[in-house]
This record gives sequence, structure tokens and C-alpha cells, in this order.
Amino acid sequence: MTKKFDPVAAMADSRHEFGEHGGVNLSIEASTTFTVMAADEMPKIFRGERGPFSMQARNATGGCYLYGRNFNPTVYTFGRMLASMEGTEAGYATASGLSAIAAVLMQYCNSGDHIVASNTIYGGTFALLKEFFPLKTGVTTQFVDLSDIAAVDLALKQTQAKVLYIESIANPTLEVADIPTLARIAHLHGAALVVDNTFAPMILSPVPLGADVVIHSVTKYISGASDVIAGAVCGSEAFIYSLMDLHVGTLMLLGPTMDPKIAHELTLRLPHLGLRMREHSARALAFAQRLEERGDKVCYPGLVSHPQHELLARQMNDGFGFGGLFTLDLGTVERANRLMEILQNEHSFGFMAVSLGYFETLMSCSGSSTSSELTTEEQQSAGISPGLIRVSIGLTGSLEQRWAQLVDALQRVERPLGS
Ligand SMILES: *Cc1c(COP(=O)(O)O)cnc(C)c1O
Repeated sequence: MTKKFDPVAAMADSRHEFGEHGGVNLSIEASTTFTVMAADEMPKIFRGERGPFSMQARNATGGCYLYGRNFNPTVYTFGRMLASMEGTEAGYATASGLSAIAAVLMQYCNSGDHIVASNTIYGGTFALLKEFFPLKTGVTTQFVDLSDIAAVDLALKQTQAKVLYIESIANPTLEVADIPTLARIAHLHGAALVVDNTFAPMILSPVPLGADVVIHSVTKYISGASDVIAGAVCGSEAFIYSLMDLHVGTLMLLGPTMDPKIAHELTLRLPHLGLRMREHSARALAFAQRLEERGDKVCYPGLVSHPQHELLARQMNDGFGFGGLFTLDLGTVERANRLMEILQNEHSFGFMAVSLGYFETLMSCSGSSTSSELTTEEQQSAGISPGLIRVSIGLTGSLEQRWAQLVDALQRVERPLGS
């Protein structure tokens, strides 16, 4: 592969937005509506001749915005920062990750169109594709095993899918997608490759690797504090602007708008995202290695034993590690639950809660929580066993303190060999 993309350098190179009074941070545009200086400007905005996306508007000053659901400059600035991080032309932020996913897929697909998607995806996305879309929009999805490239190829060909939808690192199996190969075969069949990069911000840059659109649940690592539900879409200018189209834009018409105050707050968290990812990854790697040495059933893409370790090492950017999530298989749901209870209630190790990317450790039993939308068979085929705990490693406390807590809990739930 040629020179690797550097998201930190790319973000630093993008324009710094100053505040209205020369503040070092951008101001919040807290208006839902915008004036025009001449009355005859208004119809031009509605005709698309003036507005944030037309060439005239970029050269004009003032009076070219319409309404906050359509466009807000503060939300746009946050989107622009994310776009620079993802190496895309443009980006825009939404009220949640799932609304970003729904908006992107509905923008690509009309009633009767098809999607090919990975069979190991976030439970909410799975329900959206499997149940909601066929019922409400007539868009159907074929689910495939991404590691079987021939099966993906065949599914794209047979369905003439508009979109190949994947997660860069899958939830909760931590299976890594071969983005360049999947992009190539998607494009061969006229499909767009849409990648949910929630698990790997900074670590993977899907668009420089060949994808068309990147989606984030900003709720997770990008926020980093488990206090905000938010999402984002990064892609070409033409695609991002199509989402805001007054007649057929899914963001404009379905309205999952991000509040500019939230967008402003999130812009202050992006500068340390790289540092946070590095620390999450370093800790997850240390834990995974030590667990593997102990003989525990641990899955982490940074371990040489992980089936796509080499693949991830080849694709990933330098300096951010292999991610902050690992899974630990305790065999049964009873043992998994006991372990988590000890870790939360008797130690300060972390919390039994869904979600990820928080500065504290979050643990959940995937089969009975975030992947419970999948049937038992679907869980089995996706490699989700009943005792599988997904751990999103936090940043607090010392590594040795946390490791001692984990070992203590593991020793207490351990049974005699062979049982
Ligand atoms: C959480 C999550 C989503 C949904 O995002 P929300 O912000 O909760 O709407 C989508 N994809 C992945 C991989 C997630 O982890």
C-alpha cells in the first residue's frame, strides 16, 4: 500500500474556525432561521440558486442560509472537521448514529431497491435493514458473511444492490472488513460501499481505502463521555449536499438534526480523540495479551491469533493501535454475568452497560443485549456465543490496578478444569 493516511495531520491542516470576537474556539450559531438582506434573495434560496451548497453562495456574503433543519454553520463546521479526519470532501452531523445510517441508506435506495449487508452488524442497524425497511420502504437486504468474498460478489450481482453496507470492525465479533477488496467488488457491480466506522475512528480511514461514505455513531468514541447521542456522515460534497435537498434529501425531510450547541461541544473533543484512541488501544492490547497468556478465550484484533490481525495491520493508520474493544468468552451467560457483577459491584473496574467509547470501562453480554435483535441461529452464524462479554476498555485508573481487579474477578468465577 502507498503512504498511509494521517487523520491527525489532516485535521490540523483543515481550517481553524475562530469565534465571532476573535475567540480561539468557534462561536455557536444558535439561530434556527436566517435573514436575507434583500427580499428577492429568498426565492433564489428555495430554487437552490443561493444557499450553503451553491457556488454563488460560496462567493457571496451573508443571507444565504435558510433554516436550521436544512443547514446550520456550527453543525457544518463540526462536520467539516470530521470530514478532514476521514479524508472526505464533506461531512454533516446528525442527532444519532442510527439516524445517519437510515438517512444514508434511504438516500441511496428507492422502494424496490436492494442492499447487501454484513451479517455481523450493530443490532439496531440489523433490525432497521431486516424488519423496518422491507415493511416501511420496500427496500430489502441480503445478509452475507464478509469474509466470504465470493458470496459477497454473488449477492451484489444477483440483487444488483445499490449499497454494500459494512462495519469497519464489526459489532460485537470484532471481525475486520477488507475495505479495499470490498470497495473494488462493490464498484464493479455499481454499488456504493457504505462503512460504519464507529469502532475505529482514527484507526481506519475507509474512504481513503476506497469506500464511498463513512458513518459514525458519534455517541461512542468521538464523544468519549457517554453524555451525548449523536451521529455523522462523511462523503463526497455531492452526496452530503443531496442529503439536504429540499425535495428529496433525507436529512432535510426526515429531520434528524443535530443541535448546534451539541455540535459546538463536540468540536472541543475532536482535538484529543487521537490521544484517547491511542490510550484505549494500548490498554486493550495489554489486557488481551495478558488474558491470552492466562489461557482465557479472548478476541482482540491486535492479537496475532485474531483471524484478521494481518488484514487490520495492513489497512490501519499508524499510531492509534488496534482499538479499545475486546471480547471475553466465559462459556455461559451465568459466569459472564457473575464476572461483570464482581467487576462493577465489588471493584471499580467498570459498568454493566451497553455502548462503548466511554472513558470508563463498559461491559455487556452481547447475546442478551445489543445483539438480542438477532435470533439464536443468527447469533450463532455471526459467532456470538451466550457467554460472550464485550469490553470497551476505559482510560481511568492505572493499568495494573485494573488488571488486578480483572484477575481477581476471573479467579472467583473460574471452575475446575474440564467443566
Ligand atoms: C451505537 C452504534 C450505532 C447507533 O448509534 P446511535 O448513536 O446509538 O444511534 C450504530 N453502529 C454502531 C457500530 C454502534 O456501535
